Amino acid sequence: MTDINLASELEKLFPQTVEWRRYLHENPEPSFEEWNTRHYIYEKLKEFGYEDIEQDVGGGGLVTYVRGEKFGPTIAFRADFDALRIQEETGLPFTSKNPGVMHACGHDGHTATLLSVAKVLKEHEDQLAGSVKFIFQHAEEVLPGGGKSMVEAGVLNDVDAVYGLHLRSPLEFGTVSYCSEYAMAAADFFTITIQGKGGHAAHPNSTVDAVVVASYVVNQLQSIISRQKDPTQSGVLTFSTLQAGEGAHNVIADKAVLKGTVRTFNPELRNLIEEKINSMTESICKAHGATSEVNYVRGYPALYNHKEETELVRQLFTEKLTDVSVESIPMRMGGEDFAYFLQEKPGSFFFVHSGNEEKGIVYPHHHPRFDFDERALLVGGKCFASIVEHYLLETVAEPAEVQESLRD
Ligand code: MN
Repeated sequence: MTDINLASELEKLFPQTVEWRRYLHENPEPSFEEWNTRHYIYEKLKEFGYEDIEQDVGGGGLVTYVRGEKFGPTIAFRADFDALRIQEETGLPFTSKNPGVMHACGHDGHTATLLSVAKVLKEHEDQLAGSVKFIFQHAEEVLPGGGKSMVEAGVLNDVDAVYGLHLRSPLEFGTVSYCSEYAMAAADFFTITIQGKGGHAAHPNSTVDAVVVASYVVNQLQSIISRQKDPTQSGVLTFSTLQAGEGAHNVIADKAVLKGTVRTFNPELRNLIEEKINSMTESICKAHGATSEVNYVRGYPALYNHKEETELVRQLFTEKLTDVSVESIPMRMGGEDFAYFLQEKPGSFFFVHSGNEEKGIVYPHHHPRFDFDERALLVGGKCFASIVEHYLLETVAEPAEVQESLRD
């Protein structure tokens, strides 16, 4: 064991971590347009002493390493840094300066946290047995996302395990949570366009009423969930938009547009729902003399936390983060493109609770008044630090074949 105390170094750094978070919060940029944010992260990493910083990885990500002098594994940590197209209403002193854009999901916090870990670890590079790869990811919020393209660019090729975190604000500060195996859902999106035949509202017999046909589609497709899905599997089918007509009382609409989302964990169920949306929509519309077009777009896959790595973080957090409690939480139907990282390499995505009812920090993610308790930045940093301590600071025996090859 070593006498490095990463947690106490993160504590000392905390005021600066908060400053970085507030700068990012005040200067948010939407997905795929994070030019200034990238520059800021790059400049910070340079300031900490990082020299080789790969830019534009998978389109817009940044990657760098601390490379220990001793033998050991390569562990990757990922933070996302994009904001949302939301007009902020928090009234915070560091409210967004970009009209209509806001860090309303906490990605400013994820980035500040990972920067703090990067700064502290750089100062101990020579003492590490192995490497930490820092992955700063653009565009988590908008399809196709930055995660997929970063993984396709090979960002995990040299990585043994990958970890990430998400702040969770409606959940009260003081807890860190994990969810083994499926934790977040595959999130797909569809648009259904129904073409009927318009006409006078008093003479429906000479029309194909797109409103009536669309209503059948909305109703009947619910039976995919209630009657056709295996009841032991989770699945959601939501119609979130129904548009038809121009507002008149006496005109039958010729066209209706439905939009919605499908959430699943099981890949076979995902296929089934997509297939049924296509085939049932076509049949229902045909039966009523209308035509239809379904545009089904697959979003992020379900996020699967590997069992062993999730058990490891549970143990490490319980052991090393003595001032917070550690809990298991149930799977949720929200999506997250960290799923792509976990399809590629073992790892786990965990949650740092960051709500504070007393301070009015109670709003859900993606809400114009979303905020988080900044103490969660330090807790998140300590989570990463505990993982580093496990993999890179505890004595690892060099395999004989490595010693052999070093002698060659
Ligand atoms: Mn998010």
